[in-house]
Amino acid sequence: MGNPLRDRRTAAELASDGQVIEIADKISSFESLAGIVEADLAALDPDKRPSGWRECAVLGELQFGFADAKRRIPMVSGSASANVAAVCQRCLEPFQLKLEIEPKLLLLEQAADGYEDYEVWELDEQTMRPQDIVEELLIMAMPFSAMHDNMADCKAFLSADPSDDDGTEKLVKPFAALRSQMK
Ligand SMILES: [Zn+2]
Repeated sequence: MGNPLRDRRTAAELASDGQVIEIADKISSFESLAGIVEADLAALDPDKRPSGWRECAVLGELQFGFADAKRRIPMVSGSASANVAAVCQRCLEPFQLKLEIEPKLLLLEQAADGYEDYEVWELDEQTMRPQDIVEELLIMAMPFSAMHDNMADCKAFLSADPSDDDGTEKLVKPFAALRSQMK
């Protein structure tokens, strides 16, 4: 048997079956996402690069069905999350970035009126691979500039001692510059 996440089927088939797909996968199965993470981590010194990030889990569920009573408009909803390795743009240290998505998509060749609760996933082929939806949404959920949620987790912040006048002060300056920009 194939993996329903990776099998190519038409949206109409998935919807009429009411297909439910459990996602219990690894980052390494999502090649484009893994490629982006890898490119990001390449900025780190080799000894700082986290190992095993490709094994991190991608978990969730997709449920296919129809958005309309006449069963003409295929849709998919669900949720998924993944912890990906990322480089904090504030302290340049690796950290775990949590990505969460809650797709609610019409699977259509063109937009439909009257379904404002949904976004449209434009089908450019007869068949689709559910994994492609999950992967693209996870990539879109990646912040342009990834950072520790809490500045106190940043190594540069923790190691910056304002009473120390030598080199460490340089680490503090980016924050000062940022603060002055925000004013
Ligand atoms: Zn940080």
